Amino acid sequence: MRGLLVLTALFVAVFGKETFEGHQVLRITAKDELQLSLVKDLEDMEEFQLDFWREAIDVATSVDVRVPFHSLQAVKAYLETQDIQYAVMIKDLQAVLHEEEEQMQFAARAAGPRSTDSFDYANYHSISEIYRFQDMLVAENPNLVSKIVIGQSYEGRPLNVLKFSTGGTNRPAIWIDTGIHSREWVTQASGTWFAKKIVTDYGRDPALTAILNKMDIFLEIVTNPDGFSFTQTTNRMWRKTRKPNSGSSCVGVDPNRNWDAAFGGAGASGNPCSETYRGPRPHSESEVKSIVDFVKSHGNLKAFISIHAYSQMLLYPYGYTKTPAKDQRELHELARKAINDLASLHGTRYRYGSIISTIYQASGSTIDWTYNQGIKYSYTFELRDTGRYGFLLPASQILPTAKETWLALMAIMDHTSKNTN
Ligand SMILES: [Zn+2]
Repeated sequence: MRGLLVLTALFVAVFGKETFEGHQVLRITAKDELQLSLVKDLEDMEEFQLDFWREAIDVATSVDVRVPFHSLQAVKAYLETQDIQYAVMIKDLQAVLHEEEEQMQFAARAAGPRSTDSFDYANYHSISEIYRFQDMLVAENPNLVSKIVIGQSYEGRPLNVLKFSTGGTNRPAIWIDTGIHSREWVTQASGTWFAKKIVTDYGRDPALTAILNKMDIFLEIVTNPDGFSFTQTTNRMWRKTRKPNSGSSCVGVDPNRNWDAAFGGAGASGNPCSETYRGPRPHSESEVKSIVDFVKSHGNLKAFISIHAYSQMLLYPYGYTKTPAKDQRELHELARKAINDLASLHGTRYRYGSIISTIYQASGSTIDWTYNQGIKYSYTFELRDTGRYGFLLPASQILPTAKETWLALMAIMDHTSKNTN
């Protein structure tokens, strides 16, 4: 076992990219509380090196977990011994990754687009391609779009935010971010499409035009650039930031547990090796702190929408407490309207509700902090799918995902605009 690990590490060191040869993604369904707690126990068995794509929440919700080749037999035996049901969701993870990579390289071989009109929105792109896209969009639409840099990532990459504005100073505004968890690739791809959609629809779609005549929109597409770059060069499954943790060989912090909202409470980990590690202190990650500083200095954000994948959910605060947000009724009604609009395009079904009641207890999450800052319309999306591909959503689903999500975003932005003085 140790020999295999050393060999794997060596392979990464020599060839640069981590492979997932023989890894499978299992979907586990606990039939009662006892089985659920046995599944939860797996999270603490560090020797298995499991990667929970969807954690154990309750009996009704299945658990998705990536199992490395070296622990596959042991995990399956553990489940079978306890009579816990499971299905193999992804039989050969490396094959799926290989296919994704081939398609990306094929897209990259085509000459780089000369304008955002010829950008290939139906494919995944490298971080530099997205940065170039942003600059082209600004150059093509100087009266509507500008790029602001709100800070730097740990590794020194710019934290770019696109500002869509038709004028005025410090107008009320809407914030949208994608890709704070780097491996959720359909979110950055959708964010890129949203940016183009905004400039296309302004002056044509009356609803969006009305919004932009009153409010600004800020869009951060690559919110965790170090992680995103790492998913493309080294480890496709990377979720966290890339800052080393002192006293640990494990790297990175979960940027959706790092916010100063019940920081350190239940639903986040104090273990630097965990995928939900909260970090040494609130806002320790510059990718988070830069947004915090921006939100505070702007002071006039009315909606804050943070986009993740996967699971097909639309969520509002709180994650850290069962005490309802004071605007729960309105947030719930608006969420229902948004997911109905979303479903009208392709019939994609979403669940909705507060974070704690819909997925699980989480402390230190983005929208709990923004809501407590007084940004009433704070929402989190979990885009497609429900686990068939999970984080490896095929590129053919980018456009359908972006287009249906846009309808939900419009519902939220329209409501925000109409309820803002
Ligand atoms: Zn996420």
